[in-house]
Amino acid sequence: MMIVDNVKRLKAEIPDYVTLVAATKTRSVQEILELIDSGVIDLGENYVQEAQEKFGSIGMKARWHCIGHLQTNKVKKAVEIFDMIQTVDSVKLATEIDKRAGTIGKKMPLLIEINSAREENKSGVYPEKAMELIEGISHFENIIVVGLMTMGPVTDDVEEIRPYLRLTRRLFEEIGALEIKNVEMKYLSMGMSDSYRVAIEEGSNMVRLGTIIFGERKQ
Ligand SMILES: *Cc1c(COP(=O)(O)O)cnc(C)c1O
Repeated sequence: MMIVDNVKRLKAEIPDYVTLVAATKTRSVQEILELIDSGVIDLGENYVQEAQEKFGSIGMKARWHCIGHLQTNKVKKAVEIFDMIQTVDSVKLATEIDKRAGTIGKKMPLLIEINSAREENKSGVYPEKAMELIEGISHFENIIVVGLMTMGPVTDDVEEIRPYLRLTRRLFEEIGALEIKNVEMKYLSMGMSDSYRVAIEEGSNMVRLGTIIFGERKQ
Protein backbone atom coordinates (compact mmCIF):
# COMPACT_ATOMS: atom_id res chain seq x y z
CA MET A 1 0.00 0.00 0.00
CA MET A 2 1.14 3.51 -0.78
CA ILE A 3 1.70 5.88 2.12
CA VAL A 4 -0.26 8.57 0.34
CA ASP A 5 -3.32 6.31 -0.04
CA ASN A 6 -3.20 5.31 3.61
CA VAL A 7 -3.01 8.94 4.68
CA LYS A 8 -5.88 9.88 2.42
CA ARG A 9 -8.06 7.17 3.91
CA LEU A 10 -7.13 8.12 7.47
CA LYS A 11 -7.73 11.82 6.87
CA ALA A 12 -11.18 11.06 5.51
CA GLU A 13 -11.97 9.05 8.62
CA ILE A 14 -10.34 11.06 11.42
CA PRO A 15 -12.08 14.31 12.50
CA ASP A 16 -10.28 17.55 11.64
CA TYR A 17 -9.67 18.53 15.27
CA VAL A 18 -7.52 15.42 15.76
CA THR A 19 -3.81 15.91 15.04
CA LEU A 20 -2.32 12.97 13.23
CA VAL A 21 1.22 12.32 14.42
CA ALA A 22 3.03 9.74 12.29
CA ALA A 23 5.13 7.36 14.41
CA THR A 24 8.22 7.22 12.22
CA LYS A 25 10.64 4.98 14.14
CA THR A 26 12.58 2.75 11.72
CA ARG A 27 11.08 4.54 8.69
CA SER A 28 13.42 5.99 6.08
CA VAL A 29 13.84 9.62 5.13
CA GLN A 30 12.35 8.76 1.75
CA GLU A 31 9.21 7.32 3.35
CA ILE A 32 8.91 10.35 5.61
CA LEU A 33 9.26 12.77 2.70
CA GLU A 34 6.48 10.90 0.93
CA LEU A 35 4.40 11.27 4.07
CA ILE A 36 5.06 15.01 4.25
CA ASP A 37 4.05 15.36 0.60
CA SER A 38 0.76 13.70 1.49
CA GLY A 39 0.15 16.42 4.08
CA VAL A 40 1.22 14.91 7.41
CA ILE A 41 3.89 17.10 8.99
CA ASP A 42 3.80 15.93 12.61
CA LEU A 43 6.41 13.22 13.17
CA GLY A 44 6.81 11.17 16.35
CA GLU A 45 10.27 9.74 16.94
CA ASN A 46 11.26 7.43 19.83
CA TYR A 47 15.02 7.89 19.87
CA VAL A 48 16.99 11.14 19.92
CA GLN A 49 19.81 9.69 17.83
CA GLU A 50 17.44 8.50 15.10
CA ALA A 51 15.53 11.79 15.14
CA GLN A 52 18.78 13.70 14.85
CA GLU A 53 19.86 11.76 11.78
CA LYS A 54 16.53 12.35 10.04
CA PHE A 55 16.37 15.98 11.15
CA GLY A 56 19.49 16.57 9.11
CA SER A 57 17.59 15.81 5.87
CA ILE A 58 14.05 16.85 6.80
CA GLY A 59 14.49 19.63 9.36
CA MET A 60 11.87 22.34 9.54
CA LYS A 61 9.61 20.74 6.93
CA ALA A 62 8.14 18.78 9.84
CA ARG A 63 7.08 19.26 13.45
CA TRP A 64 9.02 16.87 15.66
CA HIS A 65 7.48 15.06 18.63
CA CYS A 66 9.47 12.99 21.10
CA ILE A 67 7.26 9.97 21.85
CA GLY A 68 9.85 7.63 23.36
CA HIS A 69 11.23 7.53 26.88
CA LEU A 70 13.79 10.30 27.20
CA GLN A 71 16.97 9.93 29.23
CA THR A 72 18.35 13.03 30.92
CA ASN A 73 21.68 12.70 29.12
CA LYS A 74 19.84 13.07 25.78
CA VAL A 75 17.86 16.15 26.75
CA LYS A 76 20.35 18.69 25.41
CA LYS A 77 20.01 17.32 21.85
CA ALA A 78 16.28 16.66 22.30
CA VAL A 79 15.39 20.28 23.07
CA GLU A 80 17.21 21.37 19.92
CA ILE A 81 15.29 18.99 17.66
CA PHE A 82 11.84 18.50 19.12
CA ASP A 83 8.88 20.85 19.00
CA MET A 84 7.08 18.83 21.67
CA ILE A 85 8.22 16.25 24.22
CA GLN A 86 5.33 13.90 24.95
CA THR A 87 6.95 11.65 27.52
CA VAL A 88 7.68 13.68 30.65
CA ASP A 89 7.12 11.59 33.77
CA SER A 90 9.41 12.99 36.46
CA VAL A 91 10.48 16.24 38.05
CA LYS A 92 14.07 15.26 37.31
CA LEU A 93 13.45 15.04 33.57
CA ALA A 94 11.42 18.26 33.50
CA THR A 95 14.16 20.04 35.44
CA GLU A 96 16.73 19.05 32.85
CA ILE A 97 14.45 20.06 29.96
CA ASP A 98 13.82 23.44 31.59
CA LYS A 99 17.53 24.01 32.05
CA ARG A 100 18.52 23.02 28.52
CA ALA A 101 15.61 24.85 26.88
CA GLY A 102 16.57 27.99 28.81
CA THR A 103 20.09 27.79 27.48
CA ILE A 104 18.87 28.01 23.88
CA GLY A 105 16.07 30.48 24.60
CA LYS A 106 13.21 28.08 23.95
CA LYS A 107 9.97 27.49 25.82
CA MET A 108 9.46 23.76 25.40
CA PRO A 109 5.93 22.34 25.08
CA LEU A 110 5.52 19.11 27.05
CA LEU A 111 2.95 16.41 27.57
CA ILE A 112 2.89 14.44 30.79
CA GLU A 113 2.98 10.71 30.10
CA ILE A 114 0.46 8.83 32.20
CA ASN A 115 1.03 5.16 33.04
CA SER A 116 -2.71 4.69 32.93
CA ALA A 117 -2.70 0.91 33.34
CA ARG A 118 -0.21 1.15 36.22
CA GLU A 119 2.21 -1.28 34.59
CA GLU A 120 5.38 -1.64 36.63
CA ASN A 121 7.76 -1.99 33.70
CA LYS A 122 6.34 0.99 31.78
CA SER A 123 7.32 4.62 31.82
CA GLY A 124 4.85 7.34 32.69
CA VAL A 125 3.56 8.69 35.98
CA TYR A 126 0.76 6.94 37.85
CA PRO A 127 -2.54 8.80 37.41
CA GLU A 128 -2.81 9.79 41.08
CA LYS A 129 0.69 11.28 40.97
CA ALA A 130 0.15 13.42 37.87
CA MET A 131 -1.21 16.47 39.67
CA GLU A 132 1.70 16.52 42.10
CA LEU A 133 4.17 16.27 39.20
CA ILE A 134 2.51 19.09 37.26
CA GLU A 135 2.41 21.38 40.29
CA GLY A 136 6.02 20.52 41.02
CA ILE A 137 7.21 21.72 37.62
CA SER A 138 4.79 24.60 36.96
CA HIS A 139 7.20 27.22 38.29
CA PHE A 140 9.72 26.46 35.55
CA GLU A 141 9.89 29.28 33.02
CA ASN A 142 11.25 27.40 29.99
CA ILE A 143 8.63 24.67 29.72
CA ILE A 144 4.89 24.67 29.25
CA VAL A 145 2.69 21.66 29.93
CA VAL A 146 0.20 21.42 27.07
CA GLY A 147 -1.50 18.11 27.77
CA LEU A 148 -1.30 14.42 28.55
CA MET A 149 -0.16 11.33 26.70
CA THR A 150 -0.82 7.67 27.40
CA MET A 151 -0.10 4.34 25.77
CA GLY A 152 -2.47 2.02 27.59
CA PRO A 153 -1.89 -1.71 27.98
CA VAL A 154 -0.81 -3.92 25.09
CA THR A 155 -3.65 -6.30 24.30
CA ASP A 156 -5.37 -7.83 21.29
CA ASP A 157 -8.76 -6.72 22.53
CA VAL A 158 -9.03 -2.98 22.05
CA GLU A 159 -11.99 -2.79 24.41
CA GLU A 160 -9.61 -3.67 27.23
CA ILE A 161 -7.77 -0.42 26.55
CA ARG A 162 -10.87 1.78 26.74
CA PRO A 163 -11.06 2.19 30.55
CA TYR A 164 -7.48 3.47 30.65
CA LEU A 165 -8.11 5.96 27.87
CA ARG A 166 -11.24 7.10 29.67
CA LEU A 167 -9.36 7.53 32.94
CA THR A 168 -6.70 9.63 31.19
CA ARG A 169 -9.38 11.79 29.62
CA ARG A 170 -10.93 12.40 33.03
CA LEU A 171 -7.56 13.45 34.41
CA PHE A 172 -7.06 15.74 31.41
CA GLU A 173 -10.35 17.49 32.15
CA GLU A 174 -9.75 17.71 35.90
CA ILE A 175 -6.36 19.34 35.44
CA GLY A 176 -7.68 21.51 32.62
CA ALA A 177 -10.33 22.94 34.91
CA LEU A 178 -7.67 24.31 37.26
CA GLU A 179 -5.67 27.48 36.78
CA ILE A 180 -2.02 26.54 37.01
CA LYS A 181 0.85 28.64 35.76
CA ASN A 182 2.54 27.23 32.63
CA VAL A 183 -0.18 24.61 32.19
CA GLU A 184 -2.64 24.63 29.29
CA MET A 185 -4.41 21.33 28.76
CA LYS A 186 -4.77 21.40 24.97
CA TYR A 187 -3.57 18.03 23.73
CA LEU A 188 -4.68 14.58 24.73
CA SER A 189 -2.34 12.22 22.89
CA MET A 190 -3.71 8.70 22.84
CA GLY A 191 -4.46 6.09 20.21
CA MET A 192 -2.22 3.99 18.00
CA SER A 193 -2.92 1.94 14.86
CA ASP A 194 -5.01 -0.63 16.70
CA SER A 195 -6.73 1.75 19.10
CA TYR A 196 -7.16 5.16 17.47
CA ARG A 197 -10.89 4.77 16.85
CA VAL A 198 -11.61 3.95 20.47
CA ALA A 199 -9.20 6.68 21.58
CA ILE A 200 -11.04 9.32 19.57
CA GLU A 201 -14.33 8.09 21.02
CA GLU A 202 -12.79 8.59 24.44
CA GLY A 203 -11.73 12.16 23.72
CA SER A 204 -8.29 11.94 22.14
CA ASN A 205 -7.34 14.88 19.92
CA MET A 206 -3.89 13.58 18.95
CA VAL A 207 -3.25 10.08 17.60
CA ARG A 208 0.14 8.48 16.98
CA LEU A 209 0.02 6.15 14.01
CA GLY A 210 2.78 4.00 12.55
CA THR A 211 1.80 0.61 11.14
CA ILE A 212 -1.46 1.77 9.59
CA ILE A 213 0.39 4.42 7.59
CA PHE A 214 3.62 2.64 6.66
CA GLY A 215 2.87 -1.08 7.04
CA GLU A 216 4.45 -3.55 9.47
CA ARG A 217 7.82 -2.57 10.88
CA LYS A 218 10.66 -4.83 9.76
CA GLN A 219 12.80 -4.25 12.86
C1 LIG B 1 5.45 3.00 17.68
C2 LIG B 1 4.61 3.90 18.51
C3 LIG B 1 3.32 4.27 18.11
C4 LIG B 1 2.66 3.75 16.84
O1 LIG B 1 2.43 2.40 16.91
P1 LIG B 1 1.66 1.63 15.71
O2 LIG B 1 1.07 0.47 16.38
O3 LIG B 1 2.69 1.28 14.71
O4 LIG B 1 0.66 2.60 15.18
C5 LIG B 1 2.61 5.16 18.91
N1 LIG B 1 3.12 5.63 20.05
C6 LIG B 1 4.34 5.29 20.48
C7 LIG B 1 4.84 5.85 21.75
C8 LIG B 1 5.12 4.41 19.72
O5 LIG B 1 6.34 4.06 20.17
